[in-house]
Amino acid sequence: TDPALIRNFCIIAHIDHGKSTLADRMLQITGVVDDRSMRAQYLDRMDIERERGITIKSQAVRLPWDGHVLNMIDTPGHVDFTYEVSRSLQACEGAVLLVDAAQGIEAQTLANLYLAMSADLHIIPVLNKIDLPAAQPEKFAEELAGLIGCDPSDVLKVSGKTGVGVRELLDHVVSSVPAPVGDADAAARALIFDSVYDTYRGVVTYVRVMDGHLGKRERILMMSTNATHETLEIGVISPEPKTSDLGLGVGEVGYLITGVKDVRQSRVGDTVTSAVKGAQNALAGYEHPKPMVFSGLYPIDGDEYPELREALDKLQLNDAALIYEPETSAALGFGFRVGFLGLLHMEIVRERLEREFGLSLISTAPNVVYRVVMEDGAELTVTNPSEFPTGGKISQVFEPVTKSTILAPSEFIGAIMEICQGRRGQLLGMDYLSEDRVEIRYTLPLGEIIFDFFDQLKSRTRGYASLDYEPAGEQEADLVKVDILLQGEAVDAFSAIVHKDKAYTYGVDMAKKLRELIPRQQFEVPIQAAIGARVIARENIRAIRKDVLAKCYGGDISRKRKLLEKQKEGKKRMKMVGRVEVPQEAFVAALSTD
Ligand code: GDP
Ligand code: MG
Repeated sequence: TDPALIRNFCIIAHIDHGKSTLADRMLQITGVVDDRSMRAQYLDRMDIERERGITIKSQAVRLPWDGHVLNMIDTPGHVDFTYEVSRSLQACEGAVLLVDAAQGIEAQTLANLYLAMSADLHIIPVLNKIDLPAAQPEKFAEELAGLIGCDPSDVLKVSGKTGVGVRELLDHVVSSVPAPVGDADAAARALIFDSVYDTYRGVVTYVRVMDGHLGKRERILMMSTNATHETLEIGVISPEPKTSDLGLGVGEVGYLITGVKDVRQSRVGDTVTSAVKGAQNALAGYEHPKPMVFSGLYPIDGDEYPELREALDKLQLNDAALIYEPETSAALGFGFRVGFLGLLHMEIVRERLEREFGLSLISTAPNVVYRVVMEDGAELTVTNPSEFPTGGKISQVFEPVTKSTILAPSEFIGAIMEICQGRRGQLLGMDYLSEDRVEIRYTLPLGEIIFDFFDQLKSRTRGYASLDYEPAGEQEADLVKVDILLQGEAVDAFSAIVHKDKAYTYGVDMAKKLRELIPRQQFEVPIQAAIGARVIARENIRAIRKDVLAKCYGGDISRKRKLLEKQKEGKKRMKMVGRVEVPQEAFVAALSTD
């Protein structure tokens, strides 16, 4: 295709403002999906996305429109998946910035807009959901225009649901988004913006060609690893993969398959070039996303350790932000310490490992990364609380902090400040977006916001507040390690690092929670919370002799079997810690502590 006829754009927005629904309408209106095969959230291909109604992975699809080729990329909106968005942006020249006409600008609207601006994209401001009775298109057009610096009349108004205005939007993409520019005669350079492992076809690599041309049956070189492969298949997604005998030229977006099974050979952010007369310089890749939250992942059945490793290898290809390394826990055996971008990311990874790879896993309570400086000057990075040094030799502890932005109606300013102050926040500033909506900025410790901060914020503002945060360095803090002991033995998987002022409450709450979560055993189980050698809380689980079969003495055998099966079922999610059976929920109990 002539690059002059190509338009590459993405849709960016706050979560739930209607990106996926608008993408659906575009698929239908351009005719790539007929009415009969249409289903909601067409591009959310993972079950988990459809069930939760959220987009996790970006999706690229080629749409024919008015003699042009549009490559549209649908992106996730949640703060944890910002890195997915920033990757998609580098494959585009334009961005449709979508805002719900009943809600106005939200925290991720701003975050995504800034990403798009720093990637130099042409921005098309669009109000969505204008069919809603509660829509206030005039008010929010003004808000949006004020933000971007355009005239309110330049803001397009659409409904992804009814399709109103979508044709005009597509026309606008053609007329206003710049065509891709590249050197067709130069050596091929294509940016890998996504990679997926497919059981039948091996690794599927998604690329945007910047210069030159990539063809079928061509030897290609991955520039960061120096690995060479042959392209067995090359094509475009529209909306299913379609092979293309012509290959991919300047500005085109598509996929290639090399038959490679090793997932590490096709890295997101890498440059693909020709193995014969390749390019000298790779394209600027992506800044590697830095994991913010760590947690231990252990197979419930220790024999599944190799399967877990393989599953993580495969998932990592599809999820560039995932990192992991082996770790052993005295309580849980062999497993991995895994780094995530946030709690939603953690939840999704765990669920995908269980669903897509059939594993049963225990995950330990998440924590952020601490830097500990010892009195002798030695420094260590703590990603696992059980590695936090004990004893008096610590000189300083640093924790990661964020710059957090909260948008909400101004009536909630008091409530928001109260929550932030309670979590050691420092007010940075406040601006009015319009008469009755404010943007409040705080410095907040990451460790204080990753747990239930967002839930609390939502409930205290009746769901009206939105939150975005970005890393903003570190600060010194008075932190201690709280250990939890079962039968006098510290269980490494239960250790947590908390602020000194909250350590006591934390210990008491955890001990109480565990008493409720751990079922009674055949013997007594004392639970203690301790800072170093100092015990700060204790609870006791009384012994029980649970003779279930006694009840059916003389009863029929099938009833007996049913009972035993029921018991087994209940044990599925249990892990033996020493002699104590501990349910999965106990390992993340700290999560719900407030
Ligand atoms: P995303 O998170 O930005 O991808 O948002 P979705 O496309 O998943 O939409 C979020 C919710 O808004 C869903 O319940 C949609 O049905 C609804 N929605 C999306 N677009 C419209 C619209 O134009 N009008 C109305 N009334 N609802 C919409
Ligand atoms: Mg979506």
